Amino acid sequence: MDFEHIPHAAPVPSATRDEALANPGFGTLFTDHMVVIDYHADKGGWHSARVCPREPIALDPAAAVLHYAQEIFEGMKAYRQEDGGVALFRPEANARRFNASAERMAMPQLPEELFIESIRRLISVDRDWIPTIEGGSLYLRPFMFASEAFLGVRPAREYKFLVIASPAGSYFKSGAPAVKIWVSSDYVRAAPGGTGAAKTGGNYAASLVPQAEAIEKGCDQVVFLDAVEKKWIEELGGMNLFFVFDDGTVVTPPLTGTILPGITRDSLIRLLREEGLTVREEAYSIDQWRADAASGRLVETMACGTAAVVTPVGTVAGHDGEFTIGSGGPGQLTSKLRDKLVGIQRGRVDDTYDWIA
Ligand code: PMP
Repeated sequence: MDFEHIPHAAPVPSATRDEALANPGFGTLFTDHMVVIDYHADKGGWHSARVCPREPIALDPAAAVLHYAQEIFEGMKAYRQEDGGVALFRPEANARRFNASAERMAMPQLPEELFIESIRRLISVDRDWIPTIEGGSLYLRPFMFASEAFLGVRPAREYKFLVIASPAGSYFKSGAPAVKIWVSSDYVRAAPGGTGAAKTGGNYAASLVPQAEAIEKGCDQVVFLDAVEKKWIEELGGMNLFFVFDDGTVVTPPLTGTILPGITRDSLIRLLREEGLTVREEAYSIDQWRADAASGRLVETMACGTAAVVTPVGTVAGHDGEFTIGSGGPGQLTSKLRDKLVGIQRGRVDDTYDWIA
């Protein structure tokens, strides 16, 4: 598909941009441009691809997304390489997951090549926005929503696909070496047969009250349990979990449809197996977690995702009190995997997996 390129008439001055890039934080600073592609079921599908100045979008007040939340998104990063180039990490995996989310939300498929090309075009026009600070990256947010003005409850016939980009520093405000997480026993994130495996806004809306509860309890993140037995550990609001045992086995909750199939999760499973460790995708309960942390059988817990890469979980708190994992600080395996993954993403470690694109 041809892309029209509409340059920004008044881009952010480079001095202002460079000052902002020295301390970008997360999710509040945006680049000059965006990609937009329109979809009309009656006009042959996707059309009018363009890279244009980032600006507000006009929506009819009856646009289906505003009423029934027919919306999906992705989250990925562009990393500056040692040699000055720019690389993406497994973008085809994001493209595939985007289409899996689209399928669950009764939305049209976007060709994987078009998803990736959109991202590359935005990076190429806004590449000066990629932070050069240690740990910096350009966070990319592709998303699609139902734009048709229609109040009936059925899949819309019109959509917009957009990509915006946001320079990012470190995800956790405190920059703490280990996070404290809150076990949500009053709220669940996703139920069997629901939309938990799709990256759709409603899952995140549902996580806001439990996340606020976590913050109020002095924690960084919330951990969700399964909706049926309220017993099995699922995932954090925006990260998957791995449990490391003293016998060299690692457990991560299975993909049964209620958790997001993280791309970092998939990559870690591969890295761990190549380290010679046994990785099992199996259910692990909150009671077992507490008992194993107390006995010392559990030595580390890692949280992983695009935003925070690999982060140690130090303390777990809930209505029944709290417990500490290992020393409460970053464990050996967590640090090793984080270094390896960051090394691959930044082009410092040989990418034997073909993950960098
Ligand atoms: N779970 C949830 C709910 C998430 O939002 C994310 C972030 N996309 C993840 C897990 C981690 O996924 P990934 O490794 O692909 O970033």
